Amino acid sequence: MSTSRDELKKDVPAPLDSILEKESREEAVKKHQARKQKETVIVPPTCTEVELQEEINRRHRRPALATAECSANGRRIPRCRNCGKPMSGHQPCRNNQP
Ligand SMILES: [Zn+2]
Repeated sequence: MSTSRDELKKDVPAPLDSILEKESREEAVKKHQARKQKETVIVPPTCTEVELQEEINRRHRRPALATAECSANGRRIPRCRNCGKPMSGHQPCRNNQP
């Protein structure tokens, strides 16, 4: 009697959520392995360290005009077009001035 009950249990499909979990797990493992393979690919250096540093410096360099108007956090300070004062806490004055 107990054996037939076990046979029945075998035929019962697993709950749907457990199936989904298994599939997503397999998917994650696949992605992980693919990522690992990608990382292990040896890419020959296209330039020397000095050249790389120079390229970084070139990208980070700002025009002198922009730095003059930059605040401490590096953002450009928006200014009023009419009076030139910083826009923070400034009410638009285009109606007051010509
Ligand atoms: Zn103004």
